[in-house]
Amino acid sequence: MSVSQFNPQDPLALAPADCDRGHACQFCPEEPSCRLDKGHHEKLVLDSRLTRIDQIIMVMANKGGVGKSTVSANIAAGLAAQGYRVGVADADIHGPNQSRFFGFVGERVRISKRGLSPLAFNASGLAHPIQVGSLAFMMESDDTPIVWRDSYKHDFMHHLIGSFDWGELDFLIIDMPPGTGNELITLSDLLEGQNVAAVLVTTPQEVALMDSLKAVRFCQERGMPLLGVVENMAGVTCPHCSGEFHLFPRDHLAEALDKAGVASLAQVPFSLALASGSDSGQPIVLDAPESAEARAFSLAVNACVDQAKANFAAAAADSLKAMNQEAQQAPELEQALAAVPEEQRDALRSELAALLGNQPLPSAGHDGSPR
Ligand code: SF4
Repeated sequence: MSVSQFNPQDPLALAPADCDRGHACQFCPEEPSCRLDKGHHEKLVLDSRLTRIDQIIMVMANKGGVGKSTVSANIAAGLAAQGYRVGVADADIHGPNQSRFFGFVGERVRISKRGLSPLAFNASGLAHPIQVGSLAFMMESDDTPIVWRDSYKHDFMHHLIGSFDWGELDFLIIDMPPGTGNELITLSDLLEGQNVAAVLVTTPQEVALMDSLKAVRFCQERGMPLLGVVENMAGVTCPHCSGEFHLFPRDHLAEALDKAGVASLAQVPFSLALASGSDSGQPIVLDAPESAEARAFSLAVNACVDQAKANFAAAAADSLKAMNQEAQQAPELEQALAAVPEEQRDALRSELAALLGNQPLPSAGHDGSPR
């Protein structure tokens, strides 16, 4: 049964008991006879995945054919090369390519009580394999055309994040379908409250650029941090003289991004090595880390790392503030301060405040109570 078809008001459904299975009810052999609250179960599964993922990066493009999947794979590989635990969720339901980009064409996933197992991509130098989850692993053949009703698209987005057993991740890279339609809205809703940021992929052509600005507006309206734009096919290196030139004029792109307040993160050259690396399942950032393409991707990778660090610092500051507030309310602190000579108490409070996040602790009266 799909999430969208489940009726939470079913009087026979039992709640809040759960079965502890780590996958959606749709994949469950017991589904026909199960009387548990299936909507509740699927929410638990989704929440349990999200609590183990620190930073989600949505790689978006408002237009197909701009190389969004290649950018997603190489950002993921670049993060993994820095030692992070990385997953790639292939949400491009109309053209799931991540199986090809990581060398898993024709492979299928297994399901256990823990959920669907992502396929693990290993390469020399990686501290952790990249976990790849894709619709392609569940299709009968890789060239099966996919036609979706909107309710199934919603269910698939839910299963992609919830039913795959991602484990502990520093980053989950989501390769989004092109556009700002149903899939993007569904995923943004599912991920509300998580650390999510977006990277936008475009080419310098006018049409791709105009389309991309719609995605910029989507992020702004949703309050989703947009780390910047990766300009793909931004130039060519001549194989004879090694000179670089642009295929398309890019002045208008720089101007439009500036006007929209969006950073240009990286300019990735049009490159045969990049295309063949994608086809052979070897992301170029791992295969040729010193190449111009890999150096360009590293700028986008670093932007993702900076975002995750900023979120970590903000969370740490919040918890210090909470500790500070608890400390202010703790009678033990004021009792301890009461034992210190009165003329030293304010200095001690200032020192504690500096340790706990620079918020001044209240002065206390002679009886130790806050003044
Ligand atoms: S996954 Fe759990 S809640 Fe869902 S049908 Fe199976 S046993 Fe029931």
